[in-house]
Amino acid sequence: MKYVLVTGGVVSGLGKGVTASSIGLILQACGLRVTSIKIDPYLNIDAGTMSPFEHGEVFVLDDGGEVDLDLGNYERFLDNKLTRDNNITTGKIYQSVLEKERRGDYLGKTVQVVPHITDAIQEWIERVAAIPVDGKDGPADVCVIELGGTIGDIESMPFIEALGQFSYRVGTGNFCLIHVSLVPVLSVVGEQKTKPTQHSVKGLRSLGLTPNILACRSTTQLDENVKEKLSKFCHVPVENIVTLYDVSNIWHVPLLLRDQKAHEAILRALNLKEVAKEPELREWTSRAELCDLLHEPVRVAMVGKYMGLSDSYLSVLKALLHASVACRRKLCIDWVPAGDLEDITAKENPDNYKSAWDLLKGADAVLVPGGFGDRGVEGKILAAKYARENRIPYLGICLGMQIAVIEFARSILGLKDANSTEFDPNTQNPCVIFMPEGSKTHMGGTMRLGSRRTYFQVADCISAKLYGNNDFVDERHRHRYEVNPEMVEQLEAAGLCFTGKDESGRRMEIFELSNHSYFVGVQFHPEFKSRPGKPSALFVGLIAAASGQLNGLLKKSASGLSNGHSPIKPPHQHEYGTKLVNGIHCNGNGVHI
Ligand code: GLN
Repeated sequence: MKYVLVTGGVVSGLGKGVTASSIGLILQACGLRVTSIKIDPYLNIDAGTMSPFEHGEVFVLDDGGEVDLDLGNYERFLDNKLTRDNNITTGKIYQSVLEKERRGDYLGKTVQVVPHITDAIQEWIERVAAIPVDGKDGPADVCVIELGGTIGDIESMPFIEALGQFSYRVGTGNFCLIHVSLVPVLSVVGEQKTKPTQHSVKGLRSLGLTPNILACRSTTQLDENVKEKLSKFCHVPVENIVTLYDVSNIWHVPLLLRDQKAHEAILRALNLKEVAKEPELREWTSRAELCDLLHEPVRVAMVGKYMGLSDSYLSVLKALLHASVACRRKLCIDWVPAGDLEDITAKENPDNYKSAWDLLKGADAVLVPGGFGDRGVEGKILAAKYARENRIPYLGICLGMQIAVIEFARSILGLKDANSTEFDPNTQNPCVIFMPEGSKTHMGGTMRLGSRRTYFQVADCISAKLYGNNDFVDERHRHRYEVNPEMVEQLEAAGLCFTGKDESGRRMEIFELSNHSYFVGVQFHPEFKSRPGKPSALFVGLIAAASGQLNGLLKKSASGLSNGHSPIKPPHQHEYGTKLVNGIHCNGNGVHI
């Protein structure tokens, strides 16, 4: 097993996760099998209890692991399936050491950060690196390890010490350290400044780690003399210094690395030159270029709670992007803060109310993503009602499904107080109820989490066709509440068809509304399994419906989703008056991917 460690210096938010994923991808393109580990030096055992507002979305794995969103980047770039143990936190390491201490495994010794915590970190890395994640047998060739945070953080010290020992133990030729740093350009003089990187490498070296490769974030290519200066002060050969300059979309990052021969530097450091082939990135390249050429917009209104931080819905945005590219449309997200749609905002803040409704009414499709807590729920219900009544394509994910059922029960069944017991425990018409798996008392154990199977109830339904006419589909879950099975008959009689259920038939997984072009709700989270080259079926359905391609797509569904797309049209200039971030046009107040 060979190891690539990715560390970050100077500032956070340099895109270390995307860099680590891109490195994994180019190594995979060289014919190597790659796995990855993310180290998060925080004390939480996992990301499950962390607010998406503070830390970005909680990514969910097949095994039910609730992990850092970077694991989503790895899965999307490398198209593999990671395990919960591929995300190491300080909390997990301490928990394992303390459990051993209580068992008496340390035989009376004083338990210390060095060697016990540092040994536990190294053992964890070696054990997890050996788990196959690409569906093949046996361990991968290379494990990419990303160390979260910035060099110098107090929290990451035990990890740095452990990784220093680890690199010495596995030996040169088996370990390659890539340090991602920042080369700022001062606007006054327009000069690329190397000092922050110099200092950060100095810090790294003082902690016993020597970088093999420097990946410098900057607005433009580094000048040759800047590279030479960095080389001299950081003791890294010029050919091992690459620039990660700003690109139009993140799919260009692996191409940037390849063009600057980063793979050769890594393969040299790992003694893998003999076994690796030239990187094959044709499909990846054409998708990155296609994404830049798309000009015909598809506007999707995202109606949610955390509208100030796009990381909170990262996988949903990525899934929308994958589907839009597959449908040859330029994705334009309209962020609609759910609370602003509510009547109370009309009185308290009429401007916000108007702009929220304007955005919703201007959209080609409406998406209500998952969520917890009652803030904005009534606004989401209004959005679902608007989409249903005006025949706007709608996809409701988890909470987005539940609120659509509530809206249907209120408007069509006339059950005015219909609600989820999550929001109104005393409702007379509980159409969404607490249906946990596992413990009913222990907060950590009540969630239905990870991959579960959904069986299609009829072959002739939109979702079964979009999913390629299989009998079932496995998707990831993260919820406690579900549609009340006692109310299903009533809802179905009024036209809300539950086309996907679990094996018991008690858990409603998918609904579709008859007499509507695309009004679909899912209890699971399809966004977690969407990949750039394999867009999630129901997202493709939404974008296809929003761009007039759904009927054609359903007809072709038997022959596979990728066959039904229109040819690329030549680009021409469009001005949307929106912000362009990572290839996605965005409206509204959010920060965007
Ligand atoms: N709060 C809802 C539940 O627990 C929805 C969860 C979600 O959207 N992930 O069932």
